[in-house]
Amino acid sequence: MPRGDGTGPWGQGPGTGRGNGGCEKKASPLAVVEAGKCVSCGACIDPCPAGALSMKDIAVVDAVKCTGCGACVDLCSAGAIAMKPR
Ligand code: SF4
Ligand code: SF4
Repeated sequence: MPRGDGTGPWGQGPGTGRGNGGCEKKASPLAVVEAGKCVSCGACIDPCPAGALSMKDIAVVDAVKCTGCGACVDLCSAGAIAMKPR
């Protein structure tokens, strides 16, 4: 009489515990300098925490570096910087 030797390995199934599937996207705004308003005073350059502002003829925002913190908007006395959606 054949004996079915049932030694099936009951391994643990593939666990799919991945936490709360973090798939959040934050669309941070981007600072934009209005060329017609910027008086090239340079006041916004150093205070930018991301180092995203530099001076050419006018202030220029590096879109890659800008975190959209909005700090420069208040700094600019000429009202030349505005936050725009990316
Ligand atoms: S929004 Fe913030 S990070 Fe972007 S240029 Fe202005 S100060 Fe820098
Ligand atoms: S503070 Fe305003 S006016 Fe001065 S350089 Fe920056 S964007 Fe231009």
